[in-house]
Amino acid sequence: MKPSRPSKETPTTINQDGSRFFIHPADVTGFFTRWRRVFALLLIGVYVLLPWIPIGGHPAIFLDVINRRFHLFGLTFAAQDLWMAFFFITGLGFSLFFVTALFGRIWCGWACPQTVFLEHVYRRIERWIDGDATARRKLDAAPWNGAKIGKRLLKNGIFLFISAAIAHLFLAYFISIPQLYSWMTNSPTEHWGAFVFMAVATLLIFGNFAWFREQLCLIICPYGRLQSALIDDDSLIIGYDEGRGEPRGPAKQEGFGDCINCYRCVQVCPTGIDIRQGLQMECIGCANCIDACDNIMSKLNRPKGLIRYDSQAGLAGQKRKFIRPRIFIYAALMLAGATAFTLSAMQLRSANMNVVRMTGRPYYVTEEVVRNQYMVRVINKMNEPRTFELRSSAEGQTYTMEGNEEGIIVPPLGEEVRPVIISIARKNYLGRFPLEFTLISPEGENILSREAEFLGPKPELLKEL
Ligand code: SF4
Ligand code: SF4
Repeated sequence: MKPSRPSKETPTTINQDGSRFFIHPADVTGFFTRWRRVFALLLIGVYVLLPWIPIGGHPAIFLDVINRRFHLFGLTFAAQDLWMAFFFITGLGFSLFFVTALFGRIWCGWACPQTVFLEHVYRRIERWIDGDATARRKLDAAPWNGAKIGKRLLKNGIFLFISAAIAHLFLAYFISIPQLYSWMTNSPTEHWGAFVFMAVATLLIFGNFAWFREQLCLIICPYGRLQSALIDDDSLIIGYDEGRGEPRGPAKQEGFGDCINCYRCVQVCPTGIDIRQGLQMECIGCANCIDACDNIMSKLNRPKGLIRYDSQAGLAGQKRKFIRPRIFIYAALMLAGATAFTLSAMQLRSANMNVVRMTGRPYYVTEEVVRNQYMVRVINKMNEPRTFELRSSAEGQTYTMEGNEEGIIVPPLGEEVRPVIISIARKNYLGRFPLEFTLISPEGENILSREAEFLGPKPELLKEL
């Protein structure tokens, strides 16, 4: 049995016997609901379009795992550039800290894909098929008859279709659209791995949005748990003005606050909590309770904002401090990450090159020459085949290089490994020396240089041989 009202002692979504209590939030209308819907539609549009919008010859975001190339708004990263991800991820993490310290869980309520798809896609369809919250609860409790089976089949069929679409959309960020289309139109036997991945992803998405729902926010997502560490009394949260609302009581009687204890704010809450019990980990900042309570206040001709966006200090009647030490610290860390990433991204080139010594002996001495052998790996990050030139230089040395006679031809988004041999005549050999390899683009541009060392015996030993 479920306790009749939400309590801070136990999650609303768990019955006293430990089973799941399925929440059916009531419909709500109002300023925040309207703008959240507009914002969600925009976001869904962005999610859908990003794999289609070409920037610099690639989709705006394309994590090409097959070719180990990552395209981000015109920048191309090879696997060798992944060290930059450290700055990107830490910068992103501190941005989240910064935004949370200022605006609480605005991400969860307005932009998280879990909320966007659940509230604005799946619940809308459920509302359309099963009716409002009361009708949905009745249908849950009703015996299995023709009407219930028909509704369940229709709803879950549509959910499954949308889940498959989201899974395909998700995959479009990792493989090219033509490749995805070919997988969709060819028999699964030609690409079993991708087919199984897609089937599992579809079922996971379906299970999440059709059944698991708010449990993902409450049990799995770590962000809600971080909330207590990231926000303080001056962060913007959604809260109840206790000073104004208490003591609760009927609207028509004297001596009570503005809260008429109608429980409307609880009925619309997608995580089933009572915001009047204070800030809780389960609150995803969706603002449904603000709109619900504002509607009640409007009907009673009382000022809106009994539940509102405010800081805990503001709700307690104190002045809200916008600028605090933690804001500076998070902003500094966020800027440090963003600056490091921008500076390193500015070093990104259209090709990459590594030079390593070939396995085996470090050098070879013949009757004529001292020889060093290197393996040069050239990575082409462009979408077309390119012929690179390899040059080498060493101050004051006279030597020959083999391995670049016709240039290094590298396929689109591919790589070429080439043995390169540097030989120096014994009479010219004066000892070890530093060597620089330079990769030249087909347009004659100096792309990058790598340092190496030419090794050999002591010159006096060579004379004795
Ligand atoms: S909706 Fe407003 S008036 Fe109704 S219970 Fe919630 S806080 Fe009180
Ligand atoms: S308490 Fe209000 S803002 Fe928080 S999740 Fe519930 S309805 Fe949304």
